[in-house]
Amino acid sequence: MLGAPGAGKGTQSALLAEKIGAHHISTGELFRSAIAEGTDIGKKVKEYVDRGDLVPDKLVVDVVTEKLKSFTAEESFILDGFPRTIEQARALDKFLEERQTPLTHIVYIDVPNDKLLERLRIRIEQSGSQARSDDSEEVFAHRLKVYWEETAPLIEFYKEKGVLFSVDGLGTPEEVSKRVLEVLK
Ligand code: AMP
Repeated sequence: MLGAPGAGKGTQSALLAEKIGAHHISTGELFRSAIAEGTDIGKKVKEYVDRGDLVPDKLVVDVVTEKLKSFTAEESFILDGFPRTIEQARALDKFLEERQTPLTHIVYIDVPNDKLLERLRIRIEQSGSQARSDDSEEVFAHRLKVYWEETAPLIEFYKEKGVLFSVDGLGTPEEVSKRVLEVLK
C-alpha cells in the first residue's frame, strides 16, 4: 500500500486485510510499539520517527523480512508503509523472488497535498493533547517532503514493472476501500 502520510494507507490496509483475510504489516506500527516497549529496535528508531525522517533502509528491511519469514508461501500479506525507498523496494524484490512469491499489486492511494494537510489539521484538532509526537504540523510537513523526495519515485518504479494500481483516495474509508477491492479483482 503506497501513498503519502495521511493518505489513508493504514485504514485501507486494515480494511483490506479483514476483507481478503490477509496479514497486515505496518512498519510504522511495528516501530511505534517497539518504541513504546523500549526494545533495542525501539531505541534505535525513536529519533528518526520523532523527527519524521526515514529509518535507515537496512534496519527496516531486516525488521520486515524477519516478520515475513514467519508466514508460509500460501499466506497473503499487505505491506503498509513499506517499501519507502528504491533501495527497500529492491531488497523486497530480492527477498520475494528467493521465496518464489513475487509481489503482485502495489496499490497507490492518491490524495492531493492540500487534502493531506486538511486531514492533518482535523486529526490534530480531534486528538488534542493525545497527538502523536510525529503528528505535529511541523513534523508532518517534513514527512511530506521526505515522502516526495524518497518515496514518490516508487510510483514510476512500480509503474514500469506493471504492478502499480492507482486509487483515488478521496471520500469515506468505505468508498476508497471499494475502489481498492475493484482494482485487485
Ligand atoms: P507510518 O506510520 O507508516 O507513517 O510510519 C511512521 C514513521 O515510521 C515514519 O515517519 C518513519 O520514521 C518510520 N517508518 C515507517 N516505515 C518506514 C520505512 N519503510 N522506511 C523508513 N522509515 C519508516
